[in-house]
Amino acid sequence: MEKYVGAAFRQPRTREIPMTRVIHLLVTVFALGAATFVSAQARPVNWDALHSEILQHYRALVQIDSTSGHETKVVDYLKKVLEAEGISTQTFALEPERANLVARLKGNGSKRPLLILAHTDVVGVQREKWPVDPFGAVMKDGYVWGRGSKDDKPVLTANLMTMVLLKRSGVALDRDVIFLAESGEEADLAGVGMNYLMREHFADIDAEFAMTEGGGADIENGRVTRVNIGTAEKIPARARLVATGMAGHGSVPRLDNPLIHLSAAVQKVGLWQTPMRLNETTRAYFEKMAAISPPDRSAIYKALLDPKGADSAQAFLREHSPGEYSMLRTSVVPTILKAGVGANVIPSEAEATLDIRALPDENVQAFYAELVKVIDDPAVRVEPIPQTRPPSPASKLGTEMYQAMERAAKTIYPGVTVIPSMSTGASDMAQLRAKGIQSYGIGPASTPEDQVNYPSHGDVERLAESSLYPFVQYVWTVVTEVAGDR
Ligand SMILES: [Zn+2]
Repeated sequence: MEKYVGAAFRQPRTREIPMTRVIHLLVTVFALGAATFVSAQARPVNWDALHSEILQHYRALVQIDSTSGHETKVVDYLKKVLEAEGISTQTFALEPERANLVARLKGNGSKRPLLILAHTDVVGVQREKWPVDPFGAVMKDGYVWGRGSKDDKPVLTANLMTMVLLKRSGVALDRDVIFLAESGEEADLAGVGMNYLMREHFADIDAEFAMTEGGGADIENGRVTRVNIGTAEKIPARARLVATGMAGHGSVPRLDNPLIHLSAAVQKVGLWQTPMRLNETTRAYFEKMAAISPPDRSAIYKALLDPKGADSAQAFLREHSPGEYSMLRTSVVPTILKAGVGANVIPSEAEATLDIRALPDENVQAFYAELVKVIDDPAVRVEPIPQTRPPSPASKLGTEMYQAMERAAKTIYPGVTVIPSMSTGASDMAQLRAKGIQSYGIGPASTPEDQVNYPSHGDVERLAESSLYPFVQYVWTVVTEVAGDR
């Protein structure tokens, strides 16, 4: 069946077009010749006919073992595909094996560019945990199995197909569409990916909007019921606690034993309920969750939005939904303890690492000062750990891009609820948002069971083949809607 992408949600939108715009349009038509001028909504895409091509690229990408350090193999593949379509590419590499690739389709310049990006690296595998070859892209039980099958090769495939289809169809663009395949997202210790690009090639990827991993969609009873758009993420703001005292013999108890001071401090900060604070994204998230959840759960979410009921609701989430509890606050989680050299030795120093994840608007320095007050022990000092990603403000919900994503989700997954979400983890959107690029997270649909049993970075990773095609269609629809001519 042929589907006409875009028509459903473009038609009802009428608005006045300024005269200068009309003239500009006419000039463009005249300059290009009517034959090459194709508006996005007039261009039908026969998606069923594209399934085999989409699947072929997706499987080929999963079959490339691009464990961190081998990203150029993916770049070589993408370069071949894009250039065969007549799309020129640029590669930027700080290290030859870890190249990044950029391709740009030019618009008429009336709007600033749209950046679609995905990372090419995958995390490592323990082969013995896999029932199939982790780089085989084996098709079994309706799934494509392999490392990267969720993270991040569906986004990479969708972006690639979108570029190919834009080029083939000759869709006229109001803004440039920039394709970026970046290395070193999972392990960027050398700064070969986003940090390198931000530093040395920012002009090549600068945009008004960006779209990449960091959202998702839920399947319930065989239907996509919820699409999450990632609009914000917490800021890693890790710190070390260092307790010091006199070293001594294990047979002689000392009040200044650093282990005693450190463990008391760790307990205090680990159980500290930091202040709850909602932002535009999390407020909308809990409002929407209240609207679609069963009554008892809905009551919890509603209570969060009411200052009188928030305490008991927080206590419930702390126990039953730690991820949502974390969305309410800057969180402090002790993750590493280091102390001691022998059973009969009191060490002079003991150390703990805190994985602190700050709300996007947190004043991190003031938060560290608060932490010192909570610990209330001069024998323990707080040492901030330098971070590789900058603080990043949340992206807005009212933008042209967010609205297009919401409309596209409702067109492709009828009856779906669209929810903005704040990730408690960190992504390369942080660097983009820090530069003022409104950035939004997407992801293919999966069932809650699949998210638990076959997650990104899990022992075994897989994606339902049936989730891949609508996801590509979603990306294409958003891009043509936001970048296509008006
Ligand atoms: Zn990823």
